Parts: sequence; structure tokens; C-alpha cells
Amino acid sequence: EALNAYPLSAAGRAFLQAGEFGHVIEGRVEASAGGRSMALIDPATGQAFAECAMGDAADVDRAVRSARQAFEDGRWRNLDAQEKERRLHRLADLLEQNRAVLSDLDVVDGGVVQTYSAFIVQFGIDTTRYYAGWPTKLEGAMPAAPPDCVVQQLREPVGVCGVITPWNGPSAAPCGIVPALACGNSVVLKPAEQTPLTAILVAKLCLEAGIPPGVVNVVQGAGEVVGAALVEHPQVDAISFTGSVDTGRRIQAAAAPSLKRLSLELGGKSPQLVFEDADLEAAATAVTGAVWGHSGQVCTAGTRVLVQRRIHDAFVEAMVQRSREIRLGSGFAAETQMGPLISQQQLERVMGYVAAGRREGARVVLGGERHGTRGYFHQPTIFAGVDNSMTIAREEIFGPVMAVIAFDTEDEAFAIANDSDFGLSAGVWTRDLSRAHRAIQALKAGTVWVNTYQRVNPSIPYGGIKQSGYGRHLGHASLDHYTNLKSAWLKIR
Ligand code: NAD
Repeated sequence: EALNAYPLSAAGRAFLQAGEFGHVIEGRVEASAGGRSMALIDPATGQAFAECAMGDAADVDRAVRSARQAFEDGRWRNLDAQEKERRLHRLADLLEQNRAVLSDLDVVDGGVVQTYSAFIVQFGIDTTRYYAGWPTKLEGAMPAAPPDCVVQQLREPVGVCGVITPWNGPSAAPCGIVPALACGNSVVLKPAEQTPLTAILVAKLCLEAGIPPGVVNVVQGAGEVVGAALVEHPQVDAISFTGSVDTGRRIQAAAAPSLKRLSLELGGKSPQLVFEDADLEAAATAVTGAVWGHSGQVCTAGTRVLVQRRIHDAFVEAMVQRSREIRLGSGFAAETQMGPLISQQQLERVMGYVAAGRREGARVVLGGERHGTRGYFHQPTIFAGVDNSMTIAREEIFGPVMAVIAFDTEDEAFAIANDSDFGLSAGVWTRDLSRAHRAIQALKAGTVWVNTYQRVNPSIPYGGIKQSGYGRHLGHASLDHYTNLKSAWLKIR
């Protein structure tokens, strides 16, 4: 019923109406052993539009056994590398053919606007193509060895890889699984409970591409139940987690008894430093875009905006001008520039932070309120007069809330930028080449962008330091997470 109201693509409507929303285990879409399901909510309306299976530890166990069996019998791992590449390229082709469905799913359960969805879908395709090229390029080495021996260094798949993902980029699901597949592993994917649908589609496309059943499995359900069971499962060899810092801590503790390998991509409170010599027009457009994108629900959102005092007032005014007319609404409407927050809970969290900002003495220069009464929308909000010790400068809000902090000198800017528990990314706006290099060296972050922001590319490693986590996605770097090095000694004399 609810689906009829949506302007879906024909393929998107067919997928949603089929209503087969569950786990994917051994190549079949399945209900939960316990028979439970969860309602899927459209964040633009607050209304339920479908039901999806909600699993427990028994479902995780079935999925992990399926992945383990597939790994041990070598149905994927032992395929010729060129054949693996052909099938991964076929997966990329199928993702391209299913662009419209992926985009519909992002909008309906993730509240994503179309421009952002187009970007994520494309990124999933590009990342799949990038890793599709790796199976023929994975190499070992022959290190210098004592003269009586030949030593080989082999690079082997890890085994069963658990992948736990957040709700803010559902169509990025291929990015989580393809590096693992390129290295010959099996996967159990646990998508966020708010956005379970794209994972089902991607798992089906993997089958269609010729990746054998059991190699890619999906388990749906609550993080504390299904996610936790995956982390604790003795047959899982490695976990790649993207999500909040609190959950990251819990996962690290839960993985301690089995000493599982972890890659943790966590939150951020990224600074953007705007110096008086910057191209202020370009900076005002990009700096605001880096906070309003996906309503601020992006891990690299540049929410701490540090502005040199001489240009402070003019720059804040330029940012307000660019942000005042932003159109909020459903991602299905082409004119929408900003969509809803993911849930009622997230909306209340954001409103709580805005109240804290006011209470602690920051000045609202734009927005500051919920938008409308239907769905979970919040106005783009700019606080000026922020001190870096305030709550809104220290904690990740994950909403459209910008904290503007004034500074005088370059050293002061670097010190404020680094005074944070997080270290995911940083942005620098300057035309002074030497200053740009000083900033690159001084800023404690996994990525520094100069005169641009939030650029990502499959061949460029990405990840955080400090409490933004460890391990790297993308590029060569993620191959280290998905492979083991084995040294083999052979005595010849
Ligand atoms: P979250 O930590 O609540 O959930 C993320 C995933 O972990 C979900 O699939 C959830 O079900 C699962 N989970 C929850 N509790 C678990 C547990 N005890 N054991 C195992 N799994 C569990 O995060 P969220 O609110 O969904 O996502 C927002 C957060 O993700 C933000 O902090 C954001 O910065 C971060 N994020 C980081 C990146 C990055 O690359 N660094 C990218 C996107 C989002």
C-alpha cells in the first residue's frame, strides 16, 4: 500500500513489491529462525513501508557456517584469478544495470537525496571495478634467506570476514565486500537495521555474477544481537566495522577473547581551516557543502569550521547566504537539496546538541530548529562564537550543525584543530603553498584535503587515527586486512 505513493523506477517497484526481505544464506533469501521481523521506516514520513526479517545468534551461526564451508571447500578461493576477475567485473556491470533500484532503496529507507545517492551508487561501482582488477595482481615475495634455505612469503586469504556497516551510505555495500572477495575470502555482511535492503540486492547480484552461493551471506537484525554474535563467533576470522565510536569500543572488547583481526572506521569531528588568504567564494560553497551533505550524517562532515578573525564576519555571512535557501524534503523530489535525519532518535539527539550549544553560550546565526512536523527533518544550523571546549565542538552530532570557531594565528588554528578525540579528516583553505604544506604536516588526521573536501577514490586509502579508529579501506591498504602473510622455509642443502 505505502509503496504505491512513491515515484519508484519500474525495477525498484518490482524489487520492493516482491517483499522478500531477509537474510541471504547459502544463496537463498531466508526468514529468521526465530520468526521475528522488523518494520522498515521511511525517514521522510516516519511511516513504515515494509517488513524485514530480524535475526538472532542462530541466524548468524547458519550464515557463518555457510561462509566457512564455502571457504574450506575452495569454491571461490580456488578459482583461477582471471575467472575471479571476470565475475567481479560482471558484478560491477550488474550494479550499473541496477542503478535505479539501488537509488530507490537508498531514498526509501535511508532518506538519501538523489545527488548523494548517485554519488554513493557510482562509488560502489567504481570500487567494485577497482578490486575486480586485484586477483591477478596479488603477489607473494622471496625475502633474502640463509643459503641453505629457500623462503617463500605467501599472501593468503584470511577466511571468513565479518563486515558490519552503518545506515548512512547503504549503496556503498559493495565497497565492504569486494576487497574481501578479491583476496579469496568468504563474507558475512551485517547491514544497519535501518537500511537492510541494498545488502539483499547486492548479495543477489553477486550470485547472478557467478560468485558461488555461501561466499556472500547477509544477516539482518539489531547490532547488539546480530552484530555482537558475529564479532563473538569463533569461526569468523576478521571484522571490518564502520560505525560509531561507542560501538567500536564494544566490538574491540568483544573481539578480545578470540583476538580477531579488526578494522575500525569510526566517527569524526573534522575541522575545516579557513585562512584569510583563501579563495573565500570557493571556500564558502565547499565548506557549507561539507556540513550539509546527507544532512551532516557523513563521517567526514567538516563540522568544526575554524575561521581567521580578520575575515570571520564576512565569511560567516557568505556561508549563511549559501545555506538560507536550502530546500528540505523527500529524496524523491528532484528539487530537494537536503533530506531527513535517519530516525526520530537521531532527530532528538541533534535537537539536544542544539540546545546544549545555546546553553553553553554559542550564538545561532542560522536555523536551530526542527523543520516541519512530519518525518525527521532539521534545519541547517550554524553556531558562531563557539569555543572548542563546548559540547558542540567536541562531540560528533551527525546532523546539519556547524560550529564556527575564530582564530588569530596559524599555530593557534593547528592547535585547535588537533584538540579533539577524533582524527578522521581535516580541510584547509589557503592560497599559500608553504602554509598548505605546514598544515599537511601539522594536522593529526587520516586524510587532509587542501582547497577541496570529501574527495574519495577507490585507489586512495581512507581511515582515521585516534578515536576515529584504525585500519584502512580502499587502495592496497585494505588488502592487508583481508590477507595473511605466511613464510614457508624449505631446506635445500
Ligand atoms: P552504530 O555504531 O550504531 O551502528 C553501526 C553498525 O554496527 C550497525 O550495523 C549496527 O547494527 C551495528 N552494531 C551496533 N551495536 C553493535 C554491537 N554491539 N556489536 C556489533 N555491531 C553492532 O553507528 P550508526 O549510528 O549506525 O552510524 C553512525 C556512525 O558511523 C557515526 O559515528 C559515523 O561517524 C560513523 N561512520 C563512520 C564512517 C567511517 O568511514 N569512518 C563511515 C560512515 C559512518
